Amino acid sequence: MTTTTFQTTSTAASARGLVKTYGRGAAAVHALAGVDVDVAPGRFTAIMGPSGSGKSTLLHCLAGLDQPTDGSVVVDGVELAGLDDDALTRFRRDRLGFVFQAFNLLPMLTARQNIVLPLELAGRRVDEAARVRIDEVVDVLGLSDRLDHRPGELSGGQQQRVAIARALVADAAIVFADEPTGNLDSTASTEVLSFLRRSVRELGRTVVMVTHELDAAAYADDVIVLADGRVRAHLTAPSHDELVAELQAGVR
Ligand code: ADP
Repeated sequence: MTTTTFQTTSTAASARGLVKTYGRGAAAVHALAGVDVDVAPGRFTAIMGPSGSGKSTLLHCLAGLDQPTDGSVVVDGVELAGLDDDALTRFRRDRLGFVFQAFNLLPMLTARQNIVLPLELAGRRVDEAARVRIDEVVDVLGLSDRLDHRPGELSGGQQQRVAIARALVADAAIVFADEPTGNLDSTASTEVLSFLRRSVRELGRTVVMVTHELDAAAYADDVIVLADGRVRAHLTAPSHDELVAELQAGVR
């Protein structure tokens, strides 16, 4: 019998009873007020909701970048609360990928050097398997002829594609993207969203993206709608009208 480690868990990430409170007493802000959520592997999930509804806080708690006040987060089968700071840093570095609004590429390195940086930081050899993965990712993201350019010689959309490639080649269990199109014009946004979707469809990755843009959410398979720090709806392939209705209901 052959064994496989591919997708052994039915959820890529899950949160139970997640609470994040800032401040105390009368000044307390309940950024997350008890969130239960499961992120499916091999799918593109968008987190949406009005400004201040807790989107970034939820993403940061799921990605181990922020510590919840209460509740549990399990990512790739690991309970984050059980990790000390060093173990959490290693887990994030080895298992998770991040794409931020501001690209966060190192300006003095070429696109290729930026892409392999996480592997090198983790002390992992860029072996044959890694090279195949890099070629595959670079090919799918259409970056082949841009690899020797520095970020300053690339457009915003190309820089964000390099950032996505960097997250993907490290073989992350989940790629977390926080408003990845926030700094891009509509053409570059379309490009970046298509690439995120292709990385799910063609490379089998799991992507969780915070966005406040309806057009961006339209690329996702699932949409988690937050309102006042709670999950208002968890929709699968919602129509535009369905999504608008849930978002508007959350504002009232
Ligand atoms: P969103 O991403 O949906 O705009 P956030 O997760 O950023 O929402 O914030 C949720 C709530 O928590 C908001 O009311 C916000 O003002 C508050 N908040 C977020 N971060 C902090 C912080 N560091 N200190 C105090 N309040 C915060």
